[in-house]
Formats: sequence, structure tokens, C-alpha cells
Amino acid sequence: MLITSLGSGSTGNSTLICSDDTCILIDLGLSYRKVETALNTKGFKVGQINAVFITHGHSDHASGVHTFRNRTKIPVFGTYETSDIYVEQRGGYGGYQEMGVEIVNFIKEGTPEQVGDLTIEAIRVSHDARHPVAYTVQNGNKKVAVVTDLGEGNALLRRRLKECNLVVIEANHDPLLLENGPYPETLKRRIRNPRGHLSNEQTGNILKSVMDSDTIPILAHLSQVNNTPQIAIQTVHDVLREGGFKSNNLKALLPYNDPSEYRI
Ligand SMILES: [Zn+2]
Ligand SMILES: [Zn+2]
Repeated sequence: MLITSLGSGSTGNSTLICSDDTCILIDLGLSYRKVETALNTKGFKVGQINAVFITHGHSDHASGVHTFRNRTKIPVFGTYETSDIYVEQRGGYGGYQEMGVEIVNFIKEGTPEQVGDLTIEAIRVSHDARHPVAYTVQNGNKKVAVVTDLGEGNALLRRRLKECNLVVIEANHDPLLLENGPYPETLKRRIRNPRGHLSNEQTGNILKSVMDSDTIPILAHLSQVNNTPQIAIQTVHDVLREGGFKSNNLKALLPYNDPSEYRI
């Protein structure tokens, strides 16, 4: 499988995962043009995407869905509660820029979806959106996880991550930078909340509990205000070293069109 990031963080998330035959995107929080440009620079075309899977309805994960659906026939999957149907029935949620997403292909935890030769499973995570999930994607005996926007881990998530060869996981913030940073107190509380975002140390601890010596960890969704790639990498590296991992090649994704391509 090939794994590469089109965007990561509050300016827009999208991860491309391909087998030899099939390509999917996890999240679509970028404009159609930005997705198209990033795909083209990596040697792909929009028409090669077989399906899109949305983790939750926050705009940095779903803002591109409307245009994408209008311009392509590519199916968009997500949980029922993430869909615009649910939003119309239940009204808005919390005011956290959550949007109704045009989803007609619903995915349920425990019921994997097959797209070509990729098997995609949703895993519930703790975050302040309607029924947010992480995804694992399997091809043959290789498995990758994309885990962003969560305030804490859980047992099922850890169990699934243990099965993965590569884990893209959020390292959102450094607690000291957050504490001393410019965000209003309500937003700081929201980020620290168990339904908010992972700190670098929390990310390190989750990775430490699920990795083996061959697992490739990739740090994602770094805050551009409350984190730096250097701090995220150093903190996670230190936690992993306590666990006996070398993790010398730890990488943090750039906000847009990270050039790194991973093959497992
Ligand atoms: Zn996000
Ligand atoms: Zn979110």
C-alpha cells in the first residue's frame, strides 16, 4: 500500500491510501482544487479515487465533500450521524463548525466496507463531533490506521492499532504552548477535554502501548499555534524511547501536500 498526505491539521485534512488497484481518501477538508493539485503533484488524478471516507463533520475534515460530490460520482462514506440527513433531523451540534455532510453510504463500526481490494473499518473515537471515527485500511496482510481528532484512546482503538504496520495519528498540541498561547480559555478547555485533541505526550503513550519494532508512526494534525514539528517529534520520541523504541525516523506531516510517500 501507498500512504501519503494531501493535507493535515486545521487548514484541511485528507490522506490518500492506495493498493495497486484501488485508491481512497480519508477525509476531504480541502477545496477540490487543492485536492486535485496535491494529487497531480503526486502523480495521481481525481478520477483514480474510488471512494472517500469521512471521519467526522468538522469543516477541516469535510468542507470539500459538497464540491467533490457535485463534480464526481465517487461515493462518500461516513457514519449516519455525520450525514446531512441526521443534521436536518436533529439540528446543529454545539456550534463547533460542524457541518452536515452529504453522505449516503453509511459505515458502521464492526461492519467493514470493501472498496476494490481495500477493507476499511471504522472505530469510534472520543471527540466533540457527532459519532466521530478513526479508520483502518487493510490490503492483504498489511494494515494502516488514520487516527485524528480524539481526546483520548480507548481499548478497541488500541487493539486495532496493534494490528497496523503504519499509524497516522494526531499529535495536536504541547500543553505548555496551549496554556500560554493566544486561544480563549473556553477553546483551551475544549482542546484539553477527553473529547478534544491529543497532546504530544498522550500520542506518545498511545503509540507506546500499540507499537512493535516494525510499526511506522506518523504524526499528524499538529496545531500551528500550540505545537511545532520539533516539539511534537521530540516529545513523542522521548516517550517511545522510555518504551524501548528507537523511533529515529519519526516524521510530522506538513499542513499541505506533504511530499513523503510511505509504502508498506
Ligand atoms: Zn480536525
Ligand atoms: Zn474535529
